Amino acid sequence: PIRVAMLSMHTSPLAPLGGRETGGMNVYVREISEQLAAIGVHVDVFTRRTSPDGPAVETLAPGASVVSITAGPAERIEKEELLPLTAEFARGVEEFAQAEGHAYDLIHSHYWLSTVAGEELAIAWGVPHVAMFHTLAEVKLRARASEREPEVRRQAERRLVRSVDRIVAATKHERQLLRQIYGVSADRVEVIPLGVNLSRFHSRDRVEARRALNLDLDTHVLLAVGRIEPLKGLDILIEAIALMTERERVVLLIVGGDDRAAPQIARLGAQAAEAGVGDRVRFVGAVPHEQLSAYYNAADVVVVPSFYESFGLVAVEAMASGVPVVASRVGGLASTVVDGRTGYLVPWRCPDPFAEKLDLLLENPSLRHALGAAAADSMLAYEWSTVAAKLRELYAVVLAGRRDLAAVGGG
Ligand code: UDP
Repeated sequence: PIRVAMLSMHTSPLAPLGGRETGGMNVYVREISEQLAAIGVHVDVFTRRTSPDGPAVETLAPGASVVSITAGPAERIEKEELLPLTAEFARGVEEFAQAEGHAYDLIHSHYWLSTVAGEELAIAWGVPHVAMFHTLAEVKLRARASEREPEVRRQAERRLVRSVDRIVAATKHERQLLRQIYGVSADRVEVIPLGVNLSRFHSRDRVEARRALNLDLDTHVLLAVGRIEPLKGLDILIEAIALMTERERVVLLIVGGDDRAAPQIARLGAQAAEAGVGDRVRFVGAVPHEQLSAYYNAADVVVVPSFYESFGLVAVEAMASGVPVVASRVGGLASTVVDGRTGYLVPWRCPDPFAEKLDLLLENPSLRHALGAAAADSMLAYEWSTVAAKLRELYAVVLAGRRDLAAVGGG
């Protein structure tokens, strides 16, 4: 069986979700590692140790583990400070491999920081390196002018897109961006969409879900889920709520955000109060992934007003739950939400079209149900097991490419 070193340096697949650095990438690494293990690919996920206690190795599933590597102080460090620790992290991974007698066949890195560490290991071990960036600095900067990304990241990404053997992109749009902005040829980029856990997220009784969450049956429930950060566009959503005709009957639940999100939550709360909808907006805080389905199933509509999403797991989780989505027409959302069939895509940063589509859906239960049912159907192709099967295929192709090179003496 293939043995993969999965690098997830700056955040662990076991970390609680909804914090500043814990969202889609954590879900991705966890789900694919478990699913790859289930089809015979052995996976060790390496992450930086952020607390002095806790075991060195934790099991995700038979054949999939999470290994904590000491690199720098065993505490939370802002990801802006992690670049100088990538070499120590790579050394730690190497020492673990030696101590355990593991020889990895392939490295799969996540986010640019892990990819920097993976670059060193790929050379040391002479194995192929597959990378997934999740976000790219240039793309973020284009989505939101006020976004700040360090110059070292921009430079590193420009180098990494060339040094790795293959890039996994979530959508064709991302592959296009890699070509336009970074000059990466399409044959070096494999498009593999993300997935959704259909046994966790599927249609369920709305009345029961509302009762479980203590929500009124005749209120319109709108839901937004995610890390609390400016790129998520929650300010646009609050503006939209204030413009809605149905606003007096609406409650907007915002799920996500840990203690570090408090200043932003206070700002958004103040914005809502000023717009006269302070009593319509509720900040729920982070909810563990395994408890989220009740929120989706209780919602009438899920809103994703982001300025950018490389894929947008929340939208697919909502659709899988049978709930229509109103989302910005950006990034991966434009390929997962089918406008007018499984939800609505509207121009980003514009509160008016959000308000208009939300009113339309809330005033038309039958339209809402039709879109919700179509949404659930459209997600049946998105199981994580499918994603893992595609990744295993990619690994095989990349490994075969290396063997062919070695056979002709190309090394
Ligand atoms: N999430 C969660 N609890 C929260 C907030 C978010 O479980 O309180 C999960 C959410 O269900 C989704 C992921 O975090 O699976 C966010 O992924 P997405 O792709 O939407 O956004 P990203 O974090 O990648 O920007």
